[in-house]
Amino acid sequence: MLTTVRGFKDILYPQSELFTAIEIAAREIFKIYNYKEIRLPTVEYYELFVKSTGETTDIVEKEMYKFEDQSKRMLALRPEGTPGIVRAYINSNLNLKGENSKFFYIGNMFRAERPQAGRYREFEQIGAEYLGNASPYADAEVIMMLDSFLKKLGIKSYTPEINSIGCTECRKKYRGVLINHLKNIDLCDDCKNRIGRNPLRVLDCKTDRDKLKDIPHIELCTDCRTHYESVKNILTTNNLKFKENYFLVRGLDYYTRTVFEFKTDQLGSQDAVASGGRYDTLVKSMGGPDSPSVGWAAGVERIAMLVEKNDTLIKEKDLFFVVSMDKAYSEYCLKILTELRKNNIRADFSNFSVSIKSQLRSANSNGAKYALIIGDDEYKTNTITLKNLSNGEQKKTNLNEIIQIMH
Ligand code: ATP
Ligand code: MG
Repeated sequence: MLTTVRGFKDILYPQSELFTAIEIAAREIFKIYNYKEIRLPTVEYYELFVKSTGETTDIVEKEMYKFEDQSKRMLALRPEGTPGIVRAYINSNLNLKGENSKFFYIGNMFRAERPQAGRYREFEQIGAEYLGNASPYADAEVIMMLDSFLKKLGIKSYTPEINSIGCTECRKKYRGVLINHLKNIDLCDDCKNRIGRNPLRVLDCKTDRDKLKDIPHIELCTDCRTHYESVKNILTTNNLKFKENYFLVRGLDYYTRTVFEFKTDQLGSQDAVASGGRYDTLVKSMGGPDSPSVGWAAGVERIAMLVEKNDTLIKEKDLFFVVSMDKAYSEYCLKILTELRKNNIRADFSNFSVSIKSQLRSANSNGAKYALIIGDDEYKTNTITLKNLSNGEQKKTNLNEIIQIMH
């Protein structure tokens, strides 16, 4: 028997419906905050991610699905959305449009990581990017928007954590201090490797966390410190509660200044529901205009797990199930179905040629609220017997009446 590839999954009903509900909630939030959708391609040049996400990141080094196509071009399945958004912004000169460059995307991402609960090789992200705005109000806006999105879904069990990792200059100075300190600590093999290449990433390591308690903190330059203080002040003034986490450095190379993660204690070690930060130099470094930017990405699978733990978002319309006592009434039944559907009423049937008992069984299995039973009398008098399947009550009525009641 053929199965899905390890780490890849089918999303069956009603999970699929839950995913859709999450996407709809996101779209509503994006409308309100004036973010415009960009539908990105799934495949990009491999080089795009090397240049943006970063050559020494886990994503590019270990997790990327890359392959050569028929023309020997090195391509990759996108592992994240930000590089594609930035590429699109540059390619289409979106900065010249004169409007705010606020974009969102919804789509599947691919990372060859070890699959486990809340971690898959294909997963869905909803992301937002605010390009070309250096103000701390942009940082605060994206953070508050993410908070509204999760609240809209009824999710409460999360804590926004924030930190500032400064600008290139702050980090250049900190690098030396950090390396000096890390040299004296017995780190895990991964981190030993990171010291020379990307020492900031060591702070992110779960294995070494306890050994890093006394690590000297980054000293932010005046501009970075002012920016960070402003972001925190705006959030506090707007009643958004957050925790500062000095160890939050994020795994991607392009972040500057503000970084944040919305964490939950409900999902075991997959504790990040969404994460993001500022990337002031990325657009320029990719050949675009100077566009300090900030954004986030949220994992839909993890959001879905949190929604399932709280409440359900799926509110299906009542289902009306048309049942025929004899196949001779099939056309009449089909006409009823068509009229119901035209009037936006959710309606279905199984098979007019099988016994009424079997059709009613189908109605129940399909979760129908009502059965519309058509027999000889109904057929001749243009009526319908409406049976409430939850309490068994039934009455004679007709199509117009049903449509009127449902409106
Ligand atoms: P983690 O630390 O859990 O690996 P990350 O830092 O790699 O997360 P990002 O690249 O910032 O995550 O992606 C944003 C969000 O996408 C995460 O907060 C998470 O909710 C989700 N996500 C990331 N990787 C996966 C995955 N392999 N499977 C499911 N969701 C994921
Ligand atoms: Mg990861």
